[in-house]
Amino acid sequence: MRILVRVEGVVQGVGFRPFVYSLAIRLGLAGHVGNDSAGVFIEIEGPAPVVGEFLGLLEAEAPPLARIERVTTSTLTDNGSAGFFIAPSEPGGRRQALVSADSATCADCLAELADPGDRRFGYPFINCTNCGPRFTIVRDVPYDRPLTTMAEFAMCAACKAEYEDPADRRFHAQPVCCTECGPALRLLDAAGTSVDGAPGVLPAAARVLTSGQVLAVKGLGGYHLAVDAGSAAAAALLRARKHREDKPFAVMVPDVTAARELCAVTAVAESLLVSGRRPIVLLPRLASAPVAEPVAPGTRDLGVLLPYTPLHHLLLRATGRPIVLTSGNVSDEPICYSDADALERLGGIADAFLVHDRAIHMRTDDSVVRAFRGREMVLRRSRGYVPEPLRLGGAPLRRPVLGCGAELKNTFCLGKDSRAFMSHHVGDLENYETYQSFTAGVEHFQRLFDIVPEVVAHDLHPEYLSTKYALELPDVSLVGVQHHHAHIASCMADNSFDGPLIGVAFDGTGYGLDGTIWGGEFLLADLASFTRAGYLDPVPMPGGAAAIRQPWRMAAAYLDRAGLAENLDVIRRNAASWDAVLAMARKGLNSPLTSSAGRLFDAVAAVLGVRDEIRYEGQAAVELEQLADRAVLDGYSCAMSEGDEVRVSGSDLVAAVVRDMSGGGYRPVVAARFHNGVANAIARVCAVLRARTGRDVVALSGGVFQNLLLLSRTVALLEAQGFRVLVHSRVPPNDGGISLGQVAVAAARDRDQ
Ligand code: ZN
Ligand code: ZN
Ligand code: FE
Repeated sequence: MRILVRVEGVVQGVGFRPFVYSLAIRLGLAGHVGNDSAGVFIEIEGPAPVVGEFLGLLEAEAPPLARIERVTTSTLTDNGSAGFFIAPSEPGGRRQALVSADSATCADCLAELADPGDRRFGYPFINCTNCGPRFTIVRDVPYDRPLTTMAEFAMCAACKAEYEDPADRRFHAQPVCCTECGPALRLLDAAGTSVDGAPGVLPAAARVLTSGQVLAVKGLGGYHLAVDAGSAAAAALLRARKHREDKPFAVMVPDVTAARELCAVTAVAESLLVSGRRPIVLLPRLASAPVAEPVAPGTRDLGVLLPYTPLHHLLLRATGRPIVLTSGNVSDEPICYSDADALERLGGIADAFLVHDRAIHMRTDDSVVRAFRGREMVLRRSRGYVPEPLRLGGAPLRRPVLGCGAELKNTFCLGKDSRAFMSHHVGDLENYETYQSFTAGVEHFQRLFDIVPEVVAHDLHPEYLSTKYALELPDVSLVGVQHHHAHIASCMADNSFDGPLIGVAFDGTGYGLDGTIWGGEFLLADLASFTRAGYLDPVPMPGGAAAIRQPWRMAAAYLDRAGLAENLDVIRRNAASWDAVLAMARKGLNSPLTSSAGRLFDAVAAVLGVRDEIRYEGQAAVELEQLADRAVLDGYSCAMSEGDEVRVSGSDLVAAVVRDMSGGGYRPVVAARFHNGVANAIARVCAVLRARTGRDVVALSGGVFQNLLLLSRTVALLEAQGFRVLVHSRVPPNDGGISLGQVAVAAARDRDQ
């Protein structure tokens, strides 16, 4: 029999044709394979059982970087042809083939890297069809060398021979190169003067680290700053120069064995660490971990990642110890990715620069993930994941949609047919440079995936730069999506669930329909619409944004609401401004009302003396979670008013904290009882809403659910009550997931029209 097979997904530039070629040869089948605009097409002829075997192995043994979305077959008439060949590509046509994500150095390349007899022995840019840079070097499509930042490197004869040989692992590997023809390393001093060239570069770079200095390293998606992770002085130096006071640094270790010396590594966590995506994995840190205190002050978890470029492998080998590897920027600015920019902005931070001459086209930060209940939970979806599409459930989109995302942790998302292309982590859209990279990123994605959005979804907050961007676009249908509805829709899309459910969106802040700031929301939602069915009782945020930076202000607002305004440590510590802030809250001066769950956690953190002021987003809540004693299972209770909208009294929880503390309560126990109290309240509201509506599926979303203690307690309580609970996995629960939710909502409304 002879059949035509079409394979769709990420199947170009990943060694799919040579794989098909060798599979057909192995099975003795005739025919050919080629690329076209939609993916890969195969004509295959032979005895029916063998053709069946071919189809099975096609998916089972596909190359590591291939992501097969769909295989379709149709029957042809036999033509008795013999032999199998790779057909030339058809030029032109519509661009539908997908660019793959960057992928960590594969085992074959690592073996060559370590083999003195190999012509790429010790070469820091070794790669093949199964690994190496992709998204970060692509300037345009189709994905071909001239349209990548490898264009300026002409292949030598040896590389060209590999590139053109269908039997070779480097057949059509666009970034293929070697010592003769590819990029080269250099070590620069802080002024940008070259101080070392091959072969002394790596030992010299390692000496920078082992002597306690700061090394800037050009990576895949941008520059990193590195120091010796065992040196308190070096880590403190990096913090001081980078103006990053407390936010934990990630640590790179050579392998899983080394990771186990720092952290507890479960089987799932191990699979995340070693995956070709190579994210930063948050792991429970061991007391014995040889990591200096200033690397991740006051945290139970440590962000750990394994090397993902040959340069990382070589650098770690030369250094012989774990290194801090943090984004190359000053405090909250975007990560540097061009050489000139890095030298200028990092010149005052780094003592030396480990650089090379392959340009980075797309700035892409490291991704951050953790394991939750045997699944991956992505907290920042960027390098290694992007631009791989997310498959959307339900009917295909009627028109292409752009979701512009939120303000903080911005991502955007393009949806077309049944695919959503979520962008890399753009960052906080508060400064011009980040906004520039947002607009440039949107244009880049539109070109790469040939998507011209006709529907544009945006947040309701009029001051978000992403909202303003949407409102200025000509000739598109605009869809405003409420922030917490977008969170819940994002969680639904993440889980391919599109039925009506109860959505619990707990986060910092989001623009509400009534002009107040929402953030502790219970929604009766489907993809197209929602009603607000419950929320945390709103309290004033004295000073607006100042109350986000200073959790003690939220303590003042909550204590006032609870009628507990005296004789507490938090008041004594902030006595100078306490009364003024209280007066402000009572008069409603510059004190918007908020139902934010994040602010409730802030208030409790301040009351417990965890933190009165924060130095990075979410710090007070993170430290409150760290403080909590996980062995404590009981929790505080709070009142709930059951009108049309269920109102949950957060001030009852704050009052319980105060009572417990003045009774001599142990802070870790109090912190745990507060967490459990919030989980209890969520479960009770969901039970009320189920009784009213019959809905028994709950989606949990919003940045507050990055709190693992709260999340696990909430899931356990809901499941014990018989709910099906949806949590995030493929996209972040924080605002980084908003853009996908916006696309899902806009698409659902567009479909209903
Ligand atoms: Zn490889
Ligand atoms: Zn070469
Ligand atoms: Fe949010």
